[in-house]
Amino acid sequence: MQPPDELTPLHEAQALVAGACEPLDVVRWPLSVAGGCVTVEAVLATEAVPPFDNSAMDGYAVRAADLEPASAEAPVTLQVVDSVLAGHVGTVTLGAGQCARIMTGAPLPPGADAVVAVEATSTGAWEADAPVESQVSVAAPFSEGANVRRAGEDVAPGDLLVAPGSVLTPARLGMLAAAGQATVAVHPRPRVGVFTTGDELVGPVWPLAPGQIRDSNRAMLVATLAADGFATVDLGHVADDEAALADAVGRGITSCDALLTTGGVSMGAVDLVRVVLDRLGDLRWLSVAIKPAKPFAFGLVGRRGRSVPVFGLPGNPVSAAVSYELLARVGLRRLAGFPPDDLVRRSEPAVVEGALRRRPDGKVHYQRVVATRGDDGMLRVRSAGGQGSHQLSALAAANALAVLPDGDGAADGDVVDVLVTG
Ligand code: AMP
Ligand code: MG
Repeated sequence: MQPPDELTPLHEAQALVAGACEPLDVVRWPLSVAGGCVTVEAVLATEAVPPFDNSAMDGYAVRAADLEPASAEAPVTLQVVDSVLAGHVGTVTLGAGQCARIMTGAPLPPGADAVVAVEATSTGAWEADAPVESQVSVAAPFSEGANVRRAGEDVAPGDLLVAPGSVLTPARLGMLAAAGQATVAVHPRPRVGVFTTGDELVGPVWPLAPGQIRDSNRAMLVATLAADGFATVDLGHVADDEAALADAVGRGITSCDALLTTGGVSMGAVDLVRVVLDRLGDLRWLSVAIKPAKPFAFGLVGRRGRSVPVFGLPGNPVSAAVSYELLARVGLRRLAGFPPDDLVRRSEPAVVEGALRRRPDGKVHYQRVVATRGDDGMLRVRSAGGQGSHQLSALAAANALAVLPDGDGAADGDVVDVLVTG
């Protein structure tokens, strides 16, 4: 164990966490459940998208050469010889002076090489169920390929659909589906168990007895995990009792890929989380050189061959949130398969409005701020309120954390780094 007052720089604590968390074993999942997961291999297209030349408009499939002489004074009249709907194939080959009704997405019939939108013809628009007109006139010339979506113009066979280490966004899943992929190899979303500790905590509704406070951390962390795309297992609130804590840790490591606890990780007389985790696993108890969220426990707790990362976050709600953001999230993203250079949220410069004051203490401060983007595209930040580690109101008002290096803080107009979290 380290001496209690030796501060560990944040980047060292982050490296410790990132190095100990391995991406979860690869699974091959249907696209419908793989949203937000990280891919493990390059996926190459085996099908063209679109699979065939098709119409981009509701209109008439034409031979562009027929329309070359068309003008407002002398429109060209074409004979309508077929009607092709999406999902069907035209069978009539267009000859000179002929066209076919065609709907958006329908394959171009043989002989056609362009499409004229219905609005640009004498028909103007179709009534529902209107019989196929025998002829139509077009007043403007049309070039070959107009309003035609070519086979493979979006994706050609062999194109890279997703690179390894990509997050499956909705659009990427749509593209995989368009190219006929049914499943995709990913790291699963980590299942993260959460329990809070402390004899003083009670849930909602129940009246507060003297000395009791509400449990705010569990609701907050469960929602944060969900917002970050992790699966959450709410393991409840656990009293400051060794047997109860050991039971909760046991349940957590049996059913989850990682475990978050809050409270009981500092130097208090009943900081039993520390006692229990030290007995069950190989934990590091750090004083991280940040404020809030100095105390932080991390290690692997094993049971029957499974080794589960456990993150012991501090109890004060703002500390718990900041500790999650800067440390636990890094490890959980690694479990989820994010590449090592994409674990920490990137900071952005922002101009301070008012001042963000602090005192020198050897730590980097993460102040809760409201960030807005000015017309010039630059972020501006102002304090979100009281900066005590118990003051959830400022955290709730904030959408960013301003990074204040050791010193006296930032004055009006100074530029600071911020992490935009919401
Ligand atoms: P601890 O780390 O257990 O000493 O807790 C530090 C402070 O955070 C104490 O004031 C606790 O009452 C408070 N605290 C701990 N857990 C929670 C929680 N889940 N919700 C709200 N406050 C908490
Ligand atoms: Mg406690």
